[in-house]
Amino acid sequence: MPPSATREPWQTMAGMRRGVGMRLLIGVLIFSSVITLIMTAVQLYLDYRYDVGLIEHRLNEIGEGYPDIIGESLWHLDREQLRIEVESILKLPDIQAVTVRETGTGHPLVIMARRRQSTPVLTRELPINRVVEGQLKQIGTLYIEAALTDVYRRLMGEALVILVSQGAKTFLVSLFILFIFSRLVTRHLATIAQFMRVYDFHRPTAALALKRRPPPVPDELDQVVMSFNDLCASLQLSYRNQRAANDALEQDVAMRIRKEEALREAEQRYRHLFHDMPIALMQMHGNFDIFPALHEAGVTDLNAYFDANPDVLRRLTSAIAIDEVNARSVELLRARNAAQLVGPAGRLWTESPGTLRRAFESRYHGETRFDEEMKVATLDGRVIDVLCTISRPQPIGSHTPTLLGLIDITERVRVRDKLQQLETDLAHAGRISLLGELMASIAHEINQPLGAVAASAQAIQNWLNRPEPPLHEVRELTALTLASARRASDIIVRTRAMAAKGKPRRDPLHLDEVIDEALLLLSHEIQVKGVEIFHRPAPAAPRIMADRTQLQQVVVNLTVNAMQALAPLGAGNGKIALTVVVPAPGMVCCVIEDNGPGIRQDSLALLFERFFTTSEGGMGMGLAICRTIIEAHGGRIAADNVSTLGGARFTFTLPASA
Ligand code: ADP
Repeated sequence: MPPSATREPWQTMAGMRRGVGMRLLIGVLIFSSVITLIMTAVQLYLDYRYDVGLIEHRLNEIGEGYPDIIGESLWHLDREQLRIEVESILKLPDIQAVTVRETGTGHPLVIMARRRQSTPVLTRELPINRVVEGQLKQIGTLYIEAALTDVYRRLMGEALVILVSQGAKTFLVSLFILFIFSRLVTRHLATIAQFMRVYDFHRPTAALALKRRPPPVPDELDQVVMSFNDLCASLQLSYRNQRAANDALEQDVAMRIRKEEALREAEQRYRHLFHDMPIALMQMHGNFDIFPALHEAGVTDLNAYFDANPDVLRRLTSAIAIDEVNARSVELLRARNAAQLVGPAGRLWTESPGTLRRAFESRYHGETRFDEEMKVATLDGRVIDVLCTISRPQPIGSHTPTLLGLIDITERVRVRDKLQQLETDLAHAGRISLLGELMASIAHEINQPLGAVAASAQAIQNWLNRPEPPLHEVRELTALTLASARRASDIIVRTRAMAAKGKPRRDPLHLDEVIDEALLLLSHEIQVKGVEIFHRPAPAAPRIMADRTQLQQVVVNLTVNAMQALAPLGAGNGKIALTVVVPAPGMVCCVIEDNGPGIRQDSLALLFERFFTTSEGGMGMGLAICRTIIEAHGGRIAADNVSTLGGARFTFTLPASA
């Protein structure tokens, strides 16, 4: 309920004494009084003029009537008559003194009458004329005095009446105006003031309403009330909005605080991890401002660009610097303290400049990770093997920092090298044993062209001893001899290569060439065993990066195994197919199938294990060596019985050279 409801009219009136009502009353009173005074003054002035006009009129009438009568009496010096006439003039209203004076004599006759003595007065001196001897002659003077005292008294009375009546009227009218003003305006203003005094926009309250009968047409007060209610409503709305905004802000701030805390915790965790990780970690930065320009210029092969612009590579290298290192970095790089490592970072890659180039390339291509094994020179002059891991946060900008991890793999590399050596040795031993198996065949294979060479040489010698040697035949036979000698030499070269112990190499090779060379070594064996060989090449197949001798070893091994499996079929019945296919872009595959009995189901899982064999006198190392060789080349080898010829099927797949 609005507080104005409890306000009584008398309270409003009392309040008005101090408020606008009193000022209104005083204002009305002063204004009315001033107006009344002015009006009264005007009224009095007009009355004064009227009264004075009356007296003057009277004096004029005396001037018109009395001089002739008084002249007659004065001519006859009739004192008594003159006195009567003077007294009659004195009796007229406002006349206070009348004097008749004779003129023209030494002792003039003076008749004087006076009623009272006051000022101010109106006087009039009138000549008394008489026709003497046909001429108008002044014989005396009539002097009349009229007093204004009565006029002033009347005017005073009138003024008093006007002032009292006007004053009373003004006061009453003012009081009435005050009352009306209070009823119509002031009490409502007080209601509004009280409403606004206790109004609280935090709490919804009833709308402001005036305690009165609503006028037929909303008046100014209604408009004020409506404006106030609108104002209150918009204040409350603003407050609600403000509160909602505050709540949202508070939530936002709380969330930010939580996020900051989480960030701080994450930062602490990161610091903790960074410093306590058992891996050498270094935070680095570089300057890769040139990269966007290179991208824009359409440079895709950064390696080639570095070849053409070595100074750019030098600049990039000299710009990389270490900002922070952990304890393990100090230990790994044999530094005295962290400060010794902070600064230019290029020296980390002096032993493996290629790795740094490739790291730059990986950054250039926007990769967030880069891993490579490399060698690092420690500060005490040793060279160790490390796995270099570079991690870059997204998005990678020109100055985005890099986290470099170095894991010491010196021991691992040593063991791996040793293992590789062992595997190479094993493969070599496998080849030697294979050659041992094939020795008779190979010897025969060499013998045959050598026999042909000897026979041809003999024939040539005989032809040359003739008186006319048949040079044409000699030339032809010499060419054949040469071919036989080359074939024998080829076999010896292959055999020697198989027997030789060398480090595995990686050369670009066509798989079909390798198969041809392997079959050359086996040609006699194939002939003896009466096996039919189908070589289905794939001329369009890409080249592979491989060690020629090791791959020949694999092909020979798989073909010999197939021939062994075909033995029970008897000579002339065995079939072996060697097919090269491209199973997917970037891959080359060799499939070796036979029409033998196939692989026993229980052997399938164990086939490539070392020392697994089903043949008597077999070592069980052939397929194990094949798998080692193929896997060392980044390929896979598998066996099944899904052969188009009905027997076993061996498949090895190798990645094509880039
Ligand atoms: P080994 O030849 O000394 O037995 P391998 O590792 O070369 O050793 O072969 C292992 C085993 O795989 C063989 O004993 C044989 O049982 C099986 N095997 C290999 N090739 C074939 C094939 N083409 N058909 C059937 N079985 C085969």
